[in-house]
Amino acid sequence: MSDVDLTVERLELRGHRVTASRRRVIEAVLARPSHFTVDDVLRETRAVGRATVFRTMKLLTDLNVVCRVLFEDGALHYRVSTRGHHHHVVCRECGRVEDFTTCDVSALVRDLSRATDYEIEGHWLEGYGRCSDCRAATVPASREAPGG
Ligand SMILES: [Zn+2]
Ligand SMILES: [Zn+2]
Ligand SMILES: [Zn+2]
Repeated sequence: MSDVDLTVERLELRGHRVTASRRRVIEAVLARPSHFTVDDVLRETRAVGRATVFRTMKLLTDLNVVCRVLFEDGALHYRVSTRGHHHHVVCRECGRVEDFTTCDVSALVRDLSRATDYEIEGHWLEGYGRCSDCRAATVPASREAPGG
């Protein structure tokens, strides 16, 4: 069974009807490399209505088929994800994204809840920096191995 079929099945098991248009969106999403924006999906599914694309992306997010990555410039990207709760580190230079699952914010959430009298139900955390490849590419010349 293909990833597309598996995803369609997952949606149907949750009681969502998967129309041909929705299936087109799912195919486009699963074919994307690393991360992408809704605009990328819209470009690849021109025959599908904009509202359907946005609704399907929301559905895929709710079902943890994709996760959202917030870039530092405010752009929201999506990424196919098989993980549960996790966060990302984003490289400022090349835009590479990695997941991380260590999420040790329970004490913070407890304090926040106490301080604000809110019941905290979610949080968002991304790290921004430079990946090892980008750092390696900018090592000062004097510190490079001789003859390298
Ligand atoms: Zn993710
Ligand atoms: Zn990088
Ligand atoms: Zn977390």
